[in-house]
Parts: sequence; structure tokens; C-alpha cells
Amino acid sequence: MAIAPSFIDTRRHQMFPTLEPAEIARLRRFGELRTFGTGDVLARVGEVGNGLSIILSGRVEITQRHQSGPSTSIVTHGPGALMGELAQLAGRPALVDARAQEAVAALIIPPERVRAMFVAEAEVGERIMRALILRRVGLLETGAGGPVIVGHTGDGDVLRLEGFLARNGHPRQRLDPETDAEARALIERFHVDPGQLPIVLCPNGELLRNPGEVELARCIGMVGPIDPDRVYDVAIVGAGPAGLATAVYAASEGLSVLVLDCRAFGGQAGASARIENYLGFPTGITGMALMARAYNQAQKFGAEMAIPDEAVALTGVAAESGDFALSLFNAERARARSVVVASGARYRRLNVSQLDDFEATSVHYWASPLEAKLVAGQEIALVGAGNSAGQATVYLARHAAKVWLIVRGRSLEASMSRYLVDRIRGLENVTLVPEAEISGLDGSHGTLEAVRWRLAAGGEIERQIRHLFLFIGAEPNSNWLAGALKLDAKGFIVTGREAGSTRQLLETSRDGVFAIGDVRAGSIKRVAAAVGEGAQVVAMLHAYLADSDRNKSAQHRH
Ligand SMILES: Cc1cc2nc3c(=O)[nH]c(=O)nc-3n(C[C@H](O)[C@H](O)[C@H](O)COP(=O)(O)OP(=O)(O)OC[C@H]3O[C@@H](n4cnc5c(N)ncnc54)[C@H](O)[C@@H]3O)c2cc1C
Repeated sequence: MAIAPSFIDTRRHQMFPTLEPAEIARLRRFGELRTFGTGDVLARVGEVGNGLSIILSGRVEITQRHQSGPSTSIVTHGPGALMGELAQLAGRPALVDARAQEAVAALIIPPERVRAMFVAEAEVGERIMRALILRRVGLLETGAGGPVIVGHTGDGDVLRLEGFLARNGHPRQRLDPETDAEARALIERFHVDPGQLPIVLCPNGELLRNPGEVELARCIGMVGPIDPDRVYDVAIVGAGPAGLATAVYAASEGLSVLVLDCRAFGGQAGASARIENYLGFPTGITGMALMARAYNQAQKFGAEMAIPDEAVALTGVAAESGDFALSLFNAERARARSVVVASGARYRRLNVSQLDDFEATSVHYWASPLEAKLVAGQEIALVGAGNSAGQATVYLARHAAKVWLIVRGRSLEASMSRYLVDRIRGLENVTLVPEAEISGLDGSHGTLEAVRWRLAAGGEIERQIRHLFLFIGAEPNSNWLAGALKLDAKGFIVTGREAGSTRQLLETSRDGVFAIGDVRAGSIKRVAAAVGEGAQVVAMLHAYLADSDRNKSAQHRH
């Protein structure tokens, strides 16, 4: 039987480029020379390493760890090779081990110098960036270097933790005690009661019992403490398309940038199974692929990411400095001279009793490959008539046996793009149920067993359905700003003229605070619009920061 070549085999030449001596000579100014003896460790899984390294002489073996069995070799780097992975770009813990096989001399470029290198050396920088991204894709394929989740397939908490890591592009492995002897051995070794599952083994050896996302993120080094004394030029709340666009443009134009997101990069767009109307992608692109590129791009330009970190309040620090403070859920504080609110919107929940009972396992607000796997070969119900409902229907219909599309209105045309309506019509396993509303959910132990819907014409239908998808519109993520900024009746942030007679389009009621994307009143709820506002706001930031510099120096003179 022929074995399909792995991702690493097919992209090896791009993943592991050899730099020319002239290129290395040009990169020398960004790093420092270091030497290592035979057997020395250059990087260790779970520990923050030195940065990107270029091997000048000697050989370094890179290995990946597996939960069961010995480590395996990925590659042996020789002279001219680049050692590192996306984690080094942001000073995060390594996902692989690196050990010198003989005496090694290397040029080490620390994370804070990498941005300058990318800016000054665009051509070699592009090859390096591509190599780092491909290496992460390779690690994601095998789950190497990430935490190991031990728990039952389909368990709500396993799904939650897996979904969180997947949305953040972090490798992970899952072991199910039903089918995996290694999982049972781990449960025994750590004396875990069945009720404490899932457990998570972090690369640094720590064991977590059914952790929250923030606890897990801290343990695997995805997010670290924020320096409370550092004042960024701009703090961006939200890493959806609007926030990431701001980060890319602001950081590439030399501003110091901090991006906070309470869940994952990509926002709603990251949850979209296929975006087909974004300029430049005629065959469509998954939201996750588009957003991962933007996230890496922002980091390449030096934007700092704090994910997951949630902003819970916005305050001014001191009148004389004009700086802002963002209070975070973890009791930390981030300071910045200006703030861009790009906190977007979240899905509305259905007003039906027992919804909470089933939200962990059977009620879904996203349609990603994780959900697709869950519903394979089954009958599902999906509620909603907007474009996101349409996309999810088209995507899930490829995996589910049958999709009931429940909508309140008479037809889809009024709220869904024509191309989606046509596509749904062509799907034999989708049945549109117009003028209907979900009337009840039944099941036990958190697992949905039946869904009922009531028809406007009269009568109630019940089907044996284990998965319900809700795409019924969004509410702005602006509760945390109550009292700090002017909001409209629905909670969207008011900007421009309505916020004050001299305000520009993206300026809020408060000087130095801007709002963009879905959270802004009157915005067009599209990826392209969010990205456009993210680019546009940077010009306003420059003007605001220059103005506040001028005011400060005028104050000093008086
Ligand atoms: C399933 C789906 C499919 C879609 N498909 C398309 C499509 O095909 N084409 C299209 O143009 N549009 C599509 N959209 C709409 C599009 O995704 C949104 O318009 C766009 O994502 C809005 O971007 P944003 O950055 O303003 O906000 P969001 O994408 O909502 O991102 C906001 C981010 O802020 C974070 N956040 C919120 N509050 C806080 C806080 N207090 N602290 C820290 N972080 C916080 C959130 O976690 C989130 O990541 C789709 C939406 C969905 C849900």
C-alpha cells in the first residue's frame, strides 16, 4: 500500500531553507554570536528559548515529543539553517526540543530584534516567515509539543478545550480512555476520579484538572503577564478582523501595539467555515486560514498579543499624561496612549427553556471542522436566516445526513445573499422550514435527544436530533464599556458626529478612544468593512498621538 507523503515531506524545501553566506552576513547586525558544546540544549519544549537562531557551524537535531513512545527526529540543522518556529516570534515557549550534536556556533536573533530584521530584509524575511508558518502547520498536523487532553470524545469540556486550542492555532493531542490504554494509564498514575475528567498534561509537566481556558493558556505559555508600567501607543481590544487589521497597519507604521482578546484571534470571522465574498479569494477561504495569516502578519510587525485576556473596564490614568488604563479580568492592567475598541459582537441565544443544559455538548454557535466531525451522518437542526446561517448550512450539509433549516420569516431571500440561497436550494439533504420557531428541547445528562418546532400555520413537529446550531444574529460586546463611552439603544458604540460635533467617523465620545468593526453603531457587518475600518483608524491614531505630543510639549513650555 502506498503511503501518502506527509506535509513535512512535500514542503520540506520551504520549511527548512538554507540561507546563503551573503544573506547571513546581512543578518548578523540583528543578533549575537553564541557557541554551544556537544549535547547542549538550544531549546526545550515548554521553555521560552533564545529567539530565532541561524546555524553558522555544527549540527543541531530537532525532535518532537510524543505522549507515548520516544521522541522522533524532525530535522537536523546544519550550517546556513534557520532554527525556530512561530512561538519564537513572540517569545513563547518552544514546542520542540533542539540539541547540539557537535560543537555549534549560531547567530541568535532575539524576538525584539526579529521585527527590525523583517522590515530591513524583506526578501529573506519572507522566506523565514514562510518557513515558520509551515513549521507550525506541520506541528499542528501531528499535535507535537502541545498539551495532551485526556477525556471522552464528545464530552463538553473536551470539546471546549480542543476548540479553544484549535481556534488559537495551538497543537494538541487528545487521548480517549475508552480506546486508549495510555489514557487509562495516565488516569491511574495521577489518581484521577472519572468526575475530574478531562485532565490536561502541559508540556512543562504540570497536570490540570478540567481547567478553564485562561488557566490552560497560562500553563502552556500562550499568554504571559502584561508589564503594568509599559505605556503602548495603542491598545486594541479584540483580535477579530478589525483589531488585527489595526494591529498590522499600526505596528508596520512604527507604533507600539498591544492586542487583547478574551477568546482567540479571528473573532467571528475565525469561526466562519468559508468566506467567499472577501476580495482576492475567488475560490473562498476558511475564516481560520484568513485570520491566522493576519495574526502572524501582525506579530511579524511586532504587535504584542495577549490572548486570552479580557478587558473589563476602561479608565483614564492621570489627567496630566492623558493615558488610558484597561483593567483586565485577571486583575492585571494594561496602559496605552490611545485605545481602539474592536470587540465585535457575539451570537444571540435562543429563548427556550433548558438551553443551558445542552450548550456544552449539543447546542453550537460555530460550524468549524470540529462540529462537522461531531454531526457526521446525523440529523441536525439549524436556526437562522442570515449569511452566517447560510454558510453553516452549506458546510454542515456536506457532513450531516440531514439539515432542518428553521427560519422565522417566509423565505431566505430577504436576509441571505443570493448565492447562498441558490446553493441551499440545490442541496438535497437540506429542508427549509419557514415561519417556524423552536419550541422545546428534550434530553438527559446534558445530551440533547429531541428538538421541537412550532409552525405559524399551526402544529408542532418533534424530531430525534442531537445537535442544534444557532445563527440568530448578534449583540455587541460592549457591556464592559458601560458608562465609559456613549452607546446607542442596542449597546453599539456611537462614533462620529453622533458622538460629538467635532468627532471624526471612527472617534467615540471620548478623546483618544476609537471604535471599529461590528461593535460600532452603523458599521457594515462584513469582514472587508471591519478590515477597512482597521486600516482607516490608524491614520486617526497618528493624528491623535501627534496632537497629544504637541499639547504635552506646549504644557512643558508653560
Ligand atoms: C459564522 C460566521 C460567518 C461569517 N461569514 C462572513 C462572510 O462570509 N463574509 C463577511 O464579510 N462576513 C462574514 N461574517 C461577519 C464577520 O465575521 C464580522 O463582520 C467580522 O468578524 C467583524 O469583525 P470585528 O473584528 O469587528 O469583530 P469580531 O469578529 O466579532 O471580533 C471581536 C473580537 O473581540 C473579542 N472581545 C470581545 N470582547 C472583548 C473583551 N472585553 N476583551 C477582550 N476581547 C474581547 C472577541 O473574543 C472577538 O475575538 C460572518 C460571521 C460569522 C459568525
